[in-house]
Amino acid sequence: MRLIVLILAGLTLAACADPLPELRMQGKQLTLQVCKGVDEISTEPIVLRHWDSEGILASWKAHKGTGRIRSTRAVFTFEEEEQGSLELRDIPQGAYDRIRLDMRPPRDGRLQLDLQDSEGKTLHRASIYFGRSDPDQLKNLEFPLQKVRKSLGDVSRAILHFSKDVGTLTITGITFLGTTPESWLPDPEAPAMTAMGSDHRVAAGLSSRRPLETKFEAQAGLNFSFNCAAPDGLRDNSDPDLTLEFIDDTGRTLAEHEFAVPVNSWRSEQVTIDASLAQAGTLTARLSLAPGRRGTITACALTPPRVDGRQSDPRTVLLLTSDTHRADYLGFMERAEVDTPTLDRLARAGVAFTDCWAAANVTNPAHISIMTGTGVQDHGVVSNDIPASPKFLTLAEAFAEKGYRTFAALSAAHLAWGGIEQGFERMSSPDRAARDSSETIAILEEWLQDGSTDDKPLFVWLHLFDAHGAYRPPPPYDTMYQPDDGEDPKDPANAGRWGEVTMPSWCSQVTDPRYVEALYRGEVTYQDNALGELLGRHPRLERDLLVFVGDHGENLYDQGPHFDHSGLTTVTQHIPLILAGSRVPSMGLVQQPVTQVNVGRTLLDLAGLGGTEFPGTNLLLGLDAEPTGEPVTRFALQAHALKASAKRGRWYLNHNLYGRQRSEGVRVPNHEIVLFDLDADPDCKVNVLEDNREIALDLRAQLLRWLMDSRVAEYLTSDYRTDEATLKALAGLGYSPGSALPDNNPWIDPECACEWCEAYPVGKRDGELDSED
Ligand SMILES: [Zn+2]
Ligand SMILES: [Zn+2]
Repeated sequence: MRLIVLILAGLTLAACADPLPELRMQGKQLTLQVCKGVDEISTEPIVLRHWDSEGILASWKAHKGTGRIRSTRAVFTFEEEEQGSLELRDIPQGAYDRIRLDMRPPRDGRLQLDLQDSEGKTLHRASIYFGRSDPDQLKNLEFPLQKVRKSLGDVSRAILHFSKDVGTLTITGITFLGTTPESWLPDPEAPAMTAMGSDHRVAAGLSSRRPLETKFEAQAGLNFSFNCAAPDGLRDNSDPDLTLEFIDDTGRTLAEHEFAVPVNSWRSEQVTIDASLAQAGTLTARLSLAPGRRGTITACALTPPRVDGRQSDPRTVLLLTSDTHRADYLGFMERAEVDTPTLDRLARAGVAFTDCWAAANVTNPAHISIMTGTGVQDHGVVSNDIPASPKFLTLAEAFAEKGYRTFAALSAAHLAWGGIEQGFERMSSPDRAARDSSETIAILEEWLQDGSTDDKPLFVWLHLFDAHGAYRPPPPYDTMYQPDDGEDPKDPANAGRWGEVTMPSWCSQVTDPRYVEALYRGEVTYQDNALGELLGRHPRLERDLLVFVGDHGENLYDQGPHFDHSGLTTVTQHIPLILAGSRVPSMGLVQQPVTQVNVGRTLLDLAGLGGTEFPGTNLLLGLDAEPTGEPVTRFALQAHALKASAKRGRWYLNHNLYGRQRSEGVRVPNHEIVLFDLDADPDCKVNVLEDNREIALDLRAQLLRWLMDSRVAEYLTSDYRTDEATLKALAGLGYSPGSALPDNNPWIDPECACEWCEAYPVGKRDGELDSED
C-alpha cells in the first residue's frame, strides 16, 4: 500500500513516541456530500459515435451482399440462402457500453453481434432473434454491453452476422453509447450495497469529476476510516489514485494522504488523527480521484467514512445461523447420534434451549424473523423471493447505531436479496446459489485479519448452509456415519425395506435412506468442525456473546416430504439455540419453550444495549422462576402461507390456509385442521382430532386470533424478485416463487363459512380451556 503523508501549512509533526490514548467513544458513520462548487453531473448516456445511413454505407463493409441507399435507409441485400455479414472496422475509442441499431427488423431469422480484437479473436458475442416481426416497423435494438465493459477497450472490429433467411436488412442508424462511470455506482446521497465480486459493502460513487467531502469533530486518537474499490471496466486500467485531504475551517489543507484504489476488490484504509490535526477542531475530509492517464473519467466506490475511537477490549457479538439444522442433531441432545464437539462445548459453557421453535420452514422468512424480532404473520415475508420492508429496524441497524461495525458472511445467495442487508456495512454472499461453510468462513477471516476492526465493537452474522440439501460432505465426513452392516446402499432389492421413502434427487439411485441420513449427519459434524476451527483461530468471536440458532429444521425420513423442509412439521420447526460467551450465565440445558423470534432482543440485552428499541422478549428472563403451569403456545406460518401451526405442550395443530402459491398444486380442503399428540406419537402419524375436539377448538381459536392480529399491512411490499437469474437460482435449491399478497389481512378470512370454519369456530375467549396438561 502506498501511503504518503504530507504535512502542509507550516505544521510540524508532533512527537509520536507515546501511543495515542484509548479513545472510548461510540463510532459513527459520516455522510458524504458532493463538494461545493462542483456542478451536477448528468448521468445520461454519452453518444460516442453515431452513423446515419450514409455513414453506415461508407463505413460498413458487406460480405457477400450488396448495399445501397434507399431514401434515408441503408439497405443491404443478401442472395437467397446466403449468410451475410456487415463489418465495421472504425470502432470509437472511449467508454461505450451499449450499441444501438435503428432498423427494420427482418421478418424472421437471427442477428448476431461479434466483437473482435485486432487478431480476430472474439471478445464478446450477442444474438437477437426475430420471429414474425413486422418489417415495416422501425425498431431500436440495443446490445447491452455493461457486463463486458472490461474487455471493450480491446475491440477493434464489430461484425453483424445474419442467418441465411434474413435476405434484406434495412438500417437507418448505428450508435455507440456510453453510460457515465458515475451512473455505475450509487449516488453519494443514497449509499447502497455495492458488489465487488461476492463482497458487498455500503458505498457511493466517487469520480474524478465529482470529489466528495464530509465534516467531523477532530479528536486526537480518532480513527478516520473508509473502504474503496474501483469498478471493473474503467478505460484506464491502472488503479486510480485517491487523495484524502484534511482541511480546517479557513480552507487550509493541513494534511494530505494518497491511496491507490484496487480494481474489483475492496481495500480498508484508516488514518489516525494526531494531536496537531485535532487542534483544528472541526475538520473537512475531502476525497478526490485523479483522472485517467488520457484524461478519461475514473470512478471508485467509496464507503461513507467512519470515525471511531480505539478500545482495548471492544465487544464482539457473533450471530451464527445454521441452515436446515434439526434440534436433535446436536451431540448433547438425548436422541442424537452425531458429534458436535464445538456446539457441545458452547452449550456446556452457556445456555442451550432444548425446545426452540422456528417461525417458518424456509430460510428468508425465518431469518427475517431473527433479524427483525417479528413473526412471519407480521413481516409478511413468506418466501425466499419477497424482500422485507425497509421500514423495519434490523438487528444490524440496532448494533450499528451503537457504534458497532457490522459484517455479514452468507452461504446462500438468496439471503442477500431479502432486504436483510439493511444495517450491514459489509456483506459477502456467493455468486452462485450456495457455498460451503469453509468458503464463507475464509471470507469472514479475511475481513477480521485486515485489522480495521481490532479495536472496534463488532457485530458479525455468519450463515452456514452445510446441512441444507444436497448433503455432500467432503471426506472423511461422507463415510463417517454410514451403517456398517455391509448393505449396498444402492441395492435395488432393498427398496422399500425402510418404509415408503422418497429419495432426494441428488441420491436417486440410493435405496437405503439410512445412507442419506448419514450424509446429513456428516454435514453437521463437518460444519461443527469448521466452526470450531474458526473460533480457535479467533477467540474474540466467542469471548463476549455468541448465539447459534437454526433457521428451520429438516424432514429426514421420519416425516415428509422426505429429505426436505417444504412444510411445517415438528422436525422442520424444532431448531437448535445456544447462547455462550462471558455475557451469558452458565445454565446448561434449559427446557423452557422458546422461539427464534426473540433472539435479537436477547442479544441486545446481553450486549448491554437494553435501552435500544427492538421488539421481543429476553429469552433468559424468568428462567430461574418456577414454571407457572401456563403452557406457552407457539405459532408459525408455512412457506407461501400454505399452512400455519400452533404448538402447546404435547399438542401440535396444523391448519391449512389454502395458500397463495402461483402454481396449482395439490390442495387439501380449505381450512382443514389436523391434530397430533406428540407424547404418544412424536412422528405425527395419527391425526387425533376426532377424540380431542376441545383441544383443537382452543388451539385453532388461538391460532386464528394470532393470524387476524397480524400487522402485515404496515409492512407489505410488492417488490418481488422476478428476474430469471433469481428464479433459476431458487429453483436450483428446490424453491418455487411466492405470490403477491392482497391489501388486507392476507392469511385468513374471518367470515369464512367453509365446513372447517363452521365445525371449529373461533368462538369467544371464555370458551377456551385453561390448561390441558
Ligand atoms: Zn434455510
Ligand atoms: Zn374456512
